[in-house]
Amino acid sequence: MEDTHEQDAAAACPACGGASAPDGEKDGYAVFRCGACDLLFVHPFPTAEELARYYSDNYRGATATFYPKLNSRRRRAFVKSLRFLRYAVGRRVLDIGCGGGVMVDAFRRLGADAHGVDISVNSITFARNRFPRCTFHCMDFDEMARSGLTFDFMFTSELMEHIPGPHGCMAMIQALSKPGTLVYVATPDAGHPAVPADIYAWDQMCPPEHLQWFTRDNLARVFDGYGFDLARAFPKKSPALSLLFRRRG
Ligand SMILES: [Zn+2]
Repeated sequence: MEDTHEQDAAAACPACGGASAPDGEKDGYAVFRCGACDLLFVHPFPTAEELARYYSDNYRGATATFYPKLNSRRRRAFVKSLRFLRYAVGRRVLDIGCGGGVMVDAFRRLGADAHGVDISVNSITFARNRFPRCTFHCMDFDEMARSGLTFDFMFTSELMEHIPGPHGCMAMIQALSKPGTLVYVATPDAGHPAVPADIYAWDQMCPPEHLQWFTRDNLARVFDGYGFDLARAFPKKSPALSLLFRRRG
């Protein structure tokens, strides 16, 4: 039936709920584009089980006692953290998707009450052993949202492109924020002029590791829906978003 076919070819945008249509295909994954906000996303998203299997099969990261390239990661994290000095000194800070905790430790060294959250048991076990002066939470978004904590500054780098839809993470960010809370987001920028004309040739277009690709406008729209204004956009030569949001009063 024609109707059934049309239903299969349509999907609600996981960011804005708008009508979306097939845009292309990469490595066996169908990629849809939202007609309302231009979000690109894998459809259907892999199930939680499929993602867990993917990450356990392909994970190159931490064990409880080992984290790859720890020293160079620590140095890079500290340099990166300096940009956020004034948001960290004397503040309570959260790195969302903190992995082995190097960025959390960098914020602590700047004088923050530094927390990290990650769902990886190995990463959090490593982080707790290696960085005992920081606080680590091994929780998913829903559990962390119910923690009762609030933060002055939240940091998320290389997270938003990995998760199936933004709303679980955004609900957590909202629950952990208060008026004036700042949230930094780094994620690939599908609207950047340096993205290849054939976006499927872009190295960031790598499902199922990446599942959704934002632009500055549609990410700002998502944050606006949770009470955050875009406070600052750091310019990037490479196709990456580097955005700071502030919770409205
Ligand atoms: Zn949309």
